[in-house]
Amino acid sequence: MDRKKQLNTNHYNHYNQSNHRRPAHSDHQQTGVKVTLGQRFPLTIKRLGINGEGIGYFKRKLVFVKGALPDEVIVAEVTGIKPSFLTAKIHRLKTPSKDRVKPRDAYAAEVGGFELEHLAYPAQLAFKRDIMLQSLEKFQPKGFRNFQLKPTIGMDDPYGYRNKAQFQVRRDADGHVIAGLYKERSHDLVDLKTCSVQMPATMHVMRGVVALMEELDVSTYDEKRGTGLVRTVVVRVAEGTGEVQVVFVTAKAPFPQEAEMVDRLLTEFPEIVSIMQNINNDKTSLIWGEKTRLLAGKPQIREVLNDLQFNLSARAFLQLNPYQTVRLYDEALKALALSDNETVIDAYSGVGTIGLSIAHAAKEVRGMDVIADAVDDANENARINHIDNVHYETGTAETIIPKWLNEGFKPDALIVDPPRTGLDDGLINAILTAKPKKFVYISCNPSTLARDLVKLTEQYHVNYIQSVDMMPQTARCEAVVKFTRA
Ligand code: SAH
Repeated sequence: MDRKKQLNTNHYNHYNQSNHRRPAHSDHQQTGVKVTLGQRFPLTIKRLGINGEGIGYFKRKLVFVKGALPDEVIVAEVTGIKPSFLTAKIHRLKTPSKDRVKPRDAYAAEVGGFELEHLAYPAQLAFKRDIMLQSLEKFQPKGFRNFQLKPTIGMDDPYGYRNKAQFQVRRDADGHVIAGLYKERSHDLVDLKTCSVQMPATMHVMRGVVALMEELDVSTYDEKRGTGLVRTVVVRVAEGTGEVQVVFVTAKAPFPQEAEMVDRLLTEFPEIVSIMQNINNDKTSLIWGEKTRLLAGKPQIREVLNDLQFNLSARAFLQLNPYQTVRLYDEALKALALSDNETVIDAYSGVGTIGLSIAHAAKEVRGMDVIADAVDDANENARINHIDNVHYETGTAETIIPKWLNEGFKPDALIVDPPRTGLDDGLINAILTAKPKKFVYISCNPSTLARDLVKLTEQYHVNYIQSVDMMPQTARCEAVVKFTRA
């Protein structure tokens, strides 16, 4: 749960703001449907919502049921009552879906990040295309009925793909160190001893760190009191080289068992080449603090993508699924269809993975990211790969792109890969003014994509939308949009 997370995923926003898919003749808001908490009724699930919940209608009122699947008949039990929708849980599953499967992870129904593990994979892929359609129907960008939505590109083996585990660390009632994810909308930590979507290398090191923390009696953070040391442990593996980085996010700087911890980790896990400490003493649910310090090894790990080398700092973003990243980038580059000697902007560039992959085919590539460490990595990565026609700057896309345009840099091609919040309004205006000939949008949030398309389609036609499943077993959906100038 880290990619692009500054977002607006207020859970039911997507449905709440408008009369999305509500039958036109519905009068429930005026008349109100009489329901009480705990009430039970039979319900047929019609489809899945944007967060992977089952959706049905009780007397025309929208009902969200976590864990229920399309075509299932259930006895629903009301857990929440809102003006425009109800939430319910499955009291009894009367008719299971033919696509219902047993989740591999025992805790799948409890923690976030496994919303679809009970759904057969082909149906997950169909859902990811459908969710794009639902978002388009909600926002209705110009011509959306004619957009070509290609079938989602999935994985052959949709498990074991996550290159990064970012787990909260606490002590349980018996004083044992536990590490994992919170139960949804709570701060109850679930100790994840196994996790089917993580690359085995991340879990192997994570459990090793947990065992050592227990053995060396390392203090863990106490959220309520704001005391204790280790808040979060981040383990990231570079799939191409096997190199592993461990980051301890701590509430204070002094780490009494630092020397022993580092020593044991380096001897027991030869794959660990980087151990870092990040200090975050704010009472916040944000993971990272401002200060990062090297404890041992080197400050970056080395990833390889499409035969290019990428150094990667702790704070820098990298796509979480290395197997699908290559496919996502292939689709993006295909959509961009550069011809000789064109200038390109790689916006929201991270460590420069996209821009450096196209530099050979371009005259010049410029990119930007808000994370300074990522931008430093991107410029360094250009040097490592002997690429000299790229340039990365620190700053927001919405300030840097207008600045470049004002300076007279008119890109032939633009590729944007924003976080879940989508594109800033000012940036959209700048794009519509500069109107680059070639334009590709990589989105990780169908909702903000559909919203942004409303304005973008004033000047651009959507050629097609290609969804790529970067996060199997979750409701997350990534897509590449190819535009041509209207
Ligand atoms: N294209 C990269 C990174 C995409 S993730 C890749 O494929 O790896 C989105 C990136 O946008 C993150 O690196 C994040 O730090 C950055 N970001 C977030 N808000 C931004 C903004 N307003 N302007 C520029 N970059 C931003």
